[in-house]
Amino acid sequence: MLKLTGLSARYDTVDGYVNAVDGVNLLIKRNEIFGIAGESGCGKSTLLKVMYDLVTFPLEISGGEVSLESRDKQGGAVTLHSGEISKSWWNTISYIPQGAMHVMNPVIRVRDQFYDTAGRGKKTNKKELRNRIIAYFKELELPEEAFDAYPHQLSGGMRQRVLIALATISSPEIVLADEPTTALDVVVQRGILTMLKRAQKRMGNSMVIVSHDMGVHYQITSRLGIMYAGKLIESGPTMEIFDRPAHPYARMLIAALPRIGDNSQKEGIPGTPPSLRNPPAGCRFAARCPDAVERCKAEDPPSFAVGDDHLAACHLLAGKGRSLSAAEVQ
Ligand code: SF4
Repeated sequence: MLKLTGLSARYDTVDGYVNAVDGVNLLIKRNEIFGIAGESGCGKSTLLKVMYDLVTFPLEISGGEVSLESRDKQGGAVTLHSGEISKSWWNTISYIPQGAMHVMNPVIRVRDQFYDTAGRGKKTNKKELRNRIIAYFKELELPEEAFDAYPHQLSGGMRQRVLIALATISSPEIVLADEPTTALDVVVQRGILTMLKRAQKRMGNSMVIVSHDMGVHYQITSRLGIMYAGKLIESGPTMEIFDRPAHPYARMLIAALPRIGDNSQKEGIPGTPPSLRNPPAGCRFAARCPDAVERCKAEDPPSFAVGDDHLAACHLLAGKGRSLSAAEVQ
């Protein structure tokens, strides 16, 4: 559905380039919810923007490519690349940006934002369109009052739900959501996750969810990618990563999660990620990694297959995991 090959992206700043995404290979499959996890500043939101073709100054692609399978007007299969993907916004690919508070136009009623999106490129009369949107609101258990409201009249949780409805009403084949539950209390958060799952099930499409909250990934995603300092350091089936994390960073991240019935003292990961302006040679986690060996400081670790569809990039997996073939790296 969506393929990233050696993708790198950077920000052009007055103090030089910030290399936010570095050499990411990833395949988002049809009909799956894929999660992207990692701490703040690891490049996950930038990766999502590049997937969506939202690449405007100071962000630029510095290597690799993104390709999206889509359909032309006759229904034939076409592959779109960066710079072309924006032509299929809303119909093939849609995006739920971070911060529902600020994304919707505050002086335009919710209904008009829906008319604009759901009616785009279609010859439908307004009454039919209204009925279709209201029916969709009902399906997603959104109150009808939200339809005629201005965004500022809605709570943060309701605004986020409206945004999800807006991004999914045209049944795009892939939906990208950036931190869809941030700044919401746990009850509202649960409602949002249920709504996302329901929308994905209804459309039978793919979703990519970016969140720093591992609990969100555990609840909703079927596969997971973990990023660290611009690199994708581990990817695979979510439950397998939670049960058997292979990369030391993933292991420490998961060990730090609170669990019901576990009263042990949890420890954070000491230290901070390296600067992406001038990232260090070798493994970017080396300065914080309790297992680091000399080689880690000099050589960037390759990815190894440590299970079915489960990859991790760490020197310690050499000889334990299977080396990838050139075709698999692509
Ligand atoms: Fe740690 Fe070395 Fe593995 Fe990096 S490559 S995670 S520093 S052991």
